[in-house]
Amino acid sequence: MKIYEMTDEQRIKLLLDGGYINQNQAELLRSRQTISTDLADSLSENQIGSFSLPYGFATDFLIDGQNYLVPMVIEEPSVIAAASNAAKRIKNSGGFKTYPTPRIVYGQIVLENITESDVAQLEQNDSEIFEFAQQAHPSLIKRGGGMVSLKFNHYDNFEEIELGIDTVDAMGANMVNTILEKTSQKISTMISGDVLCSILSNSGQGQVITVETSVEYDQLATKTMSGEDVAQRIVKLSTFAKKSIKRAITHNKGIMNGIDAVLLATGNDFRAQEAAAHSFAFESGRYQPLTEWHLANNKLVGTLKMPIELGSVGGAIKALPMAQLSLAIMKIQNSQQLQSVVGSVGLANNLSALRALVTTGIQAGHMGLQSKSLAISAGASGLEIEQVAQKLNQTKDYTLKNAENILMELRKK
Ligand code: NDP
Repeated sequence: MKIYEMTDEQRIKLLLDGGYINQNQAELLRSRQTISTDLADSLSENQIGSFSLPYGFATDFLIDGQNYLVPMVIEEPSVIAAASNAAKRIKNSGGFKTYPTPRIVYGQIVLENITESDVAQLEQNDSEIFEFAQQAHPSLIKRGGGMVSLKFNHYDNFEEIELGIDTVDAMGANMVNTILEKTSQKISTMISGDVLCSILSNSGQGQVITVETSVEYDQLATKTMSGEDVAQRIVKLSTFAKKSIKRAITHNKGIMNGIDAVLLATGNDFRAQEAAAHSFAFESGRYQPLTEWHLANNKLVGTLKMPIELGSVGGAIKALPMAQLSLAIMKIQNSQQLQSVVGSVGLANNLSALRALVTTGIQAGHMGLQSKSLAISAGASGLEIEQVAQKLNQTKDYTLKNAENILMELRKK
């Protein structure tokens, strides 16, 4: 039986039998538990409940020789199906190869009203500042991270001290902000000028990852189009995205569909990731697609290059039982491994979207899945949902009015 044809209980059993989860974790899934009042109170303000979204998993990810099921949290139909569909084609072609880099988070201490002698004083004492910042979070050094760079930048009336910090497996926003604020107190004693603010940068420039794949032509074929034709059309659309900013934005939205869904499932800060991704897309001064596709050696070769800003520890990750479950399902050991998975999902979702766009169009698969949401919007419940969805798929008229009419006819019987 295909996984998408299973019931949720059958899928939980599949995870249990496959050793992805233990009995306690299976019970957590079965309980459909939301977070406790205490946890909600500790994570956010003015809480009056918790908000659920569907939790599922994408299949067939072969990344750096390791197989993964990838948990995703998403309300948009077809994102998990699209990720799994492309992942299978890529797995049959040899899988994903990833190239993460060391994780460096940059932070800024912004100074104003400073004099030339202040600047000289700072530059002469750069080693002292570096060492002070290093000691501001000693546990990071024990974990193999800590300060990696210190730079001074001048902006008209402002002076910026830029710190590069290896936060090991944490996303690092809090850690870096703590280091920056402690260091800025020290700096304020060294100069006549003022500290305007201290805050990390979400540029993600120290967390850029590359993911590559080579897809066999036969993995891309449709009923009416050869794999080579599909590959050539994907390359053309990828090229068009480099020329048209409007297309590049939607191209990248498709990548973020998968990336944000895994970040949500692992309790990560998806707003930070969004900021990093789109600023990187604009790095050349012109908004560009975050992936590139070309043909080589009779294969379709795809590359994703972008910052992936996340942690496998820290923030809300430890506190959220479902985030812990997601990391357990993927057997995540460190943040670089999670970056590799997240980047691969982004590339898979991109391939699926491009393949659909240059062949049948995106609506064929998308609306087929969207029909259930439409049925619910029309008021269907229980068995009616599937019945209305099936009729919608038959008529291919995906309007709310049509869904309401179908439901009305169904209830007359
Ligand atoms: P934390 O403040 O939770 O710091 C990371 C924690 O993980 C530390 O307690 C650290 O312990 C612990 N840890 C355990 N193992 C490791 C390891 N292997 N490597 C590194 N740390 C480890 O979280 P972050 O600093 O990561 O900050 C993330 C949070 O900050 C997110 O919730 C984010 O939303 C939020 N945030 C984001 C901002 C932004 O993006 N602009 C701004 C402000 C906050 P120890 O201290 O002992 O080393």
